Amino acid sequence: MTTGGSESRRTLLGRPTDPLSLASDLERRAESRRPFGLAALATAVLDLVFPALCPVCQTRLGAGRRDPLCGRCWDAIERIAPPYCDACGMPGAPCCARCAAEPRAWDYARSAACYEGRLREALHAFKFGGRRALARPLGDLLVEQCAAALPPGIAGLVPVPLAWERERERGFNQARLLAERLAPRLGTTLRPRWAVRVRTTRPQSDLSAEERRANVRGAFRASAAAAGQHVLLVDDVFTTGATLDACARALRDAGAARIGVLTVARVI
Ligand SMILES: [Zn+2]
Ligand SMILES: [Zn+2]
Repeated sequence: MTTGGSESRRTLLGRPTDPLSLASDLERRAESRRPFGLAALATAVLDLVFPALCPVCQTRLGAGRRDPLCGRCWDAIERIAPPYCDACGMPGAPCCARCAAEPRAWDYARSAACYEGRLREALHAFKFGGRRALARPLGDLLVEQCAAALPPGIAGLVPVPLAWERERERGFNQARLLAERLAPRLGTTLRPRWAVRVRTTRPQSDLSAEERRANVRGAFRASAAAAGQHVLLVDDVFTTGATLDACARALRDAGAARIGVLTVARVI
């Protein structure tokens, strides 16, 4: 940084300090507010003025960077490779005990990586920290890990609709951001209206598996446009699969011919 840069920073920010810690401090404070408006603008300006820092480990992005993720966090993601359960994406056998005992509401599922460590933190920063730019590397992760394993003929990517309250407070649906990124890469079309919420639900994170199923049962309705189509449901995390199950049932009721599930991460 030149002296001129420091001066302009001092003028801009009103106090001289270490530029890196200041940038990250301001960025954190900007993101602790809502991801819209001034905070988003401040983040964009700071990214231009100061070197970008990884939202997970707060260090410079460095070699192998997958902006805004640094190379180390990107490499540390625990990818899921075959063999995995065709029906739910669980690593291990081609058909897991759970899916053998009870068929899923969808036809196949793929997840890119385990919901652990750096990826878990990246998904938290994406959803709760408003770091929308993470849709880029997370979408790339999905394409790199899963695209070759997807069956052909997908007519539409359907992002799992977020509960209204969550979308209002967050300002975006993370599943939709991912699906927007994926659609051109997979050579298919984004179809956000093929599945919609028809009632409010409680946050799933506080609930048991059985409560989760009850909470989202009948919460979705699918469009008649999905009838006869091969649909790929997109979400960020496969936890118990309760939300995906409710969504897939709605699509099945609407006559979808084939339903796949694609998530960035899977709880193992
Ligand atoms: Zn990092
Ligand atoms: Zn399975």
